[in-house]
Amino acid sequence: MIINFEVMSETKLEKPIVLYVDDERNNLMEFKESFGADYEVLLAVSPDEAMEILKTITPHVIISDHRMPFMTGIEMFEKIKQKYPEPLRVLLTGYGDVQVLTDAINKGQVYRYIKKPWIEDEIRNVVMDAFANTQTRVALEVRNRELEEAYKELDRFVYSVSHDLRSPLMGIMALAGFLQKSQNLEEVNEYGELIVKNINRLDEFITNLLEYYKVKRGELTISSLSFEDLFKEIFEMYEAEMLDNNIRFEMDVKQHEDFRGDKLILLVALQNFFSNSIKYQKLENRNKFIKLSAHVLRGEAVVVIEDNGIGIDKEFQHRIFEMFYRASSQAVGSGIGLYNAKLALSKLGGEVELESAAGVGTLFTIKIPSK
Ligand code: ADP
Repeated sequence: MIINFEVMSETKLEKPIVLYVDDERNNLMEFKESFGADYEVLLAVSPDEAMEILKTITPHVIISDHRMPFMTGIEMFEKIKQKYPEPLRVLLTGYGDVQVLTDAINKGQVYRYIKKPWIEDEIRNVVMDAFANTQTRVALEVRNRELEEAYKELDRFVYSVSHDLRSPLMGIMALAGFLQKSQNLEEVNEYGELIVKNINRLDEFITNLLEYYKVKRGELTISSLSFEDLFKEIFEMYEAEMLDNNIRFEMDVKQHEDFRGDKLILLVALQNFFSNSIKYQKLENRNKFIKLSAHVLRGEAVVVIEDNGIGIDKEFQHRIFEMFYRASSQAVGSGIGLYNAKLALSKLGGEVELESAAGVGTLFTIKIPSK
């Protein structure tokens, strides 16, 4: 499963795409000659032909003659509007059609009209206006999607705060109560240990949130990076935990060229994958391992994080990068780790591929371009 991180940005439209419909071939040719250099011009000699074109291309503007045999321009627009509401519709018409035209505009079938015979500047103004209108609409749609995503995140955040911050706190409170009453040293030690565990959970949650904001809002700081050094740094961070859990560490780096990237952001991503490989080991396994490898070639680093842990069930694999999503109760995590890793990778223009089988292990392959 390959996950590409699409960076939401305002869509850049280059040339306006204009579909011109007219039953007179001379007019079609003239239109193409006048505007072919500035617009991507599509021509249709009948409404049927226009409908055919619309099956594959969505123009920004459709300009149509009103008086055509079998179907008028307005009738055609009415039909188009049902199926393809996006392109703005501009009607070319003579003086006699004013009443029909007023109705059509009032009913929203037509965006603008231009009197025949058309003047080049008039067409240019209308197309420019329609094009700007489309761009604003597209930008608004992108913003709306971003806003919807932000709302969803906020919902999940509120849920998670109530659960992940409150439950360790409630635990600490209850344990403190027991501590106050206990006279037994063994019990006191046990409660003390549980309190420390709960505090660590709180700390992890807060660290993850801070990491999230650092990655989301921070600017990139680019420098030359050595994957060998990065991997050593990560290993040292977790060395004690790995010894404690009897996990073997393997490393394989092939880097014969310079790689440029943001060290902190890359570390956020790698650390989150790595710490999961520790957390989700099979506890009873006597041969636990984690392998980090990197291959830098032609301006791209391919990094693999592999473990022989509990693996991830197929049905959860597509959700593990969601904020606050957890697929296992083996470890108490915040469910933000992989979300942050994903965010960090998207900042670096990277992508990640996941291979995992429940009970066998997990392998993440990350591809990151050098900056
Ligand atoms: P968490 O805080 O729960 O670890 P993450 O966002 O880091 O949250 O990971 C999401 C879920 O993906 C985890 O709950 C776990 O079920 C699964 N997961 C991630 N990495 C691994 C791995 N290496 N092995 C097995 N399961 C994993």
